[in-house]
Amino acid sequence: MIKVTIYNEYKHELEDERIAAVYPKGIHGCIADFLSADGDMEIKTFTMHNVEEITDEVLKETDVLIWWGHCAHEAVPDEVAARVHNHVMCGMGFIALHSAHFSKPFIKLMGSTCSLCWRDGDRERLWNIMPSHPIAQGIGKYIEIPEEEMYGERFDVPTPDELIFLGWFRGGEVFRSGCVWNKGLGKVFYFQPGHESNPTYHIPEIQRIITNAVRFAAPCYRLPQIDCPNVSSPEADM
Ligand code: ZN
Repeated sequence: MIKVTIYNEYKHELEDERIAAVYPKGIHGCIADFLSADGDMEIKTFTMHNVEEITDEVLKETDVLIWWGHCAHEAVPDEVAARVHNHVMCGMGFIALHSAHFSKPFIKLMGSTCSLCWRDGDRERLWNIMPSHPIAQGIGKYIEIPEEEMYGERFDVPTPDELIFLGWFRGGEVFRSGCVWNKGLGKVFYFQPGHESNPTYHIPEIQRIITNAVRFAAPCYRLPQIDCPNVSSPEADM
């Protein structure tokens, strides 16, 4: 079983009935539902209302942490972001979705501003530019997303280790929409689609990508902590 923890701030769905209509169980509930479909993932969810419960114990038992946040990034204590960062360094996978580009854990992992330009209400064609990658399996040449928020370059992140999806928008902008970075022993995936008022996470190909990303980011090796030991020489007669 892959142990997945999902954090969704869960603010829009409670405050705006149009968004609740798109995600009646919250974005976290929708993601948990499609990840459960294959029966090989064990899922826990957290929201801004219990974010401080994302403890070291929870993260130790997490293979991959998925993060969705938008207007309550400040509600996440710095200690939680530091904890997440530390566990990624030790091997935990981390998937940042859409407006989580400005989340505390993602900014800490990237070490840059993570800014971009944006405009609500556009159409996106998401190009699969690395079809050999595990995250792109089952995905065709491109995915049409009828309505999505435009995120445009320049995306202020370090050059990705792998660029898997490139978003093109009707307005003419392009965006590095699916990126992988190796951070410490952990794998980080950023995926741009997923504005709260659009039914993006109900699109089967989008669900496939996130499911693939969880399997890809799950650690095959992990340390309890990164230390800096003073050691004796392995050469016996030095
Ligand atoms: Zn958005």
